[in-house]
Amino acid sequence: MLVLDGKIASAAVKASLLQQTQALKAAGKRAPHLAAILVGNNGASETYVASKVKNCEETGFGSSLIRFTDDVSEAELLAEIAELNADSNVDGILVQLPLPKHIDDEKIIEAIHPDKDVDGFHPTNIGRMVQGLDTFIPATPYGVLLMLEHFNIETKGKHAVVVGRSNIVGRPMSILLSSERPQGNASVSLCHRHTPKEELIKITQQADILVVAVGIPEFITADMIKPGAVIIDVGITRVEDATAKKGFRIKGDVNYEQAITKAAAVTPVPGGVGLMTIAGLLKNTMKAYEGKFYHN
Ligand code: NAD
Repeated sequence: MLVLDGKIASAAVKASLLQQTQALKAAGKRAPHLAAILVGNNGASETYVASKVKNCEETGFGSSLIRFTDDVSEAELLAEIAELNADSNVDGILVQLPLPKHIDDEKIIEAIHPDKDVDGFHPTNIGRMVQGLDTFIPATPYGVLLMLEHFNIETKGKHAVVVGRSNIVGRPMSILLSSERPQGNASVSLCHRHTPKEELIKITQQADILVVAVGIPEFITADMIKPGAVIIDVGITRVEDATAKKGFRIKGDVNYEQAITKAAAVTPVPGGVGLMTIAGLLKNTMKAYEGKFYHN
């Protein structure tokens, strides 16, 4: 059984980016710069953004963290995004989701200039991805592709099953795995909340590659796994646990202990896809810096 260790795969991506950044600096150029907007003080969002900023530092990128309180208006956020769009020293912009209920997520995402949309959520970039054009791939599915690439996992001709159809993970993942591209060319089944459980089990049992993004801790059990499958667990849920130092533990969507008895390879949680999402984000920021993706 192979542990698909996100620490190892993301370190390789980051080392290569650091080399590129060092070469840029040696040539007297500025480094890529990521601007992150964080609204409110949601614990998980704080952790994710802090980690993104820290990873920027580790790869020699510049970063800025722009904070707003929960009561920020949509107009204020849009004004900040307009300013970042116009700032030629900012290459990538990310707005940490979720946003407070009074703010329309889609309006905010669509306000980010597609050339700076390093999370890959803008409809223009999603459209380009669907058509197989060069673009920013949404950071989490991109991270999964980088993980598959790092560990030389063949997807061509395989049956890949994706559970979960969100715009940021499941749906783009299913499109990418079925596309004519490296880490693509699979036959893909996409399951979601309306897939009856008995049906879902039958489908996941046929998965050579199983990607799970539902947000339900330990949703996938041994009986749902094909022997020898590759399991990619995207789920991250904080589960209360009084015995844990922070009062909670991070759980994935796959029962890891059961999965390792049947699968050929499994991503751990934490230490798997989460780290690769950041690697995907950093690669997108470098791509934004190079500014060439609409020109090749
Ligand atoms: P979401 O809530 O937007 O979507 C969940 C999906 O699961 C939906 O499409 C729904 O149809 C499906 N679903 C729900 N119940 C189901 C069931 N019983 N059977 C089959 N499908 C079912 O979630 P999301 O934003 O895609 O995130 C999913 C999980 O991934 C969460 O735990 C989230 O925290 C995590 N996540 C991790 C990363 C990372 O970097 N590792 C990034 C984004 C999200």
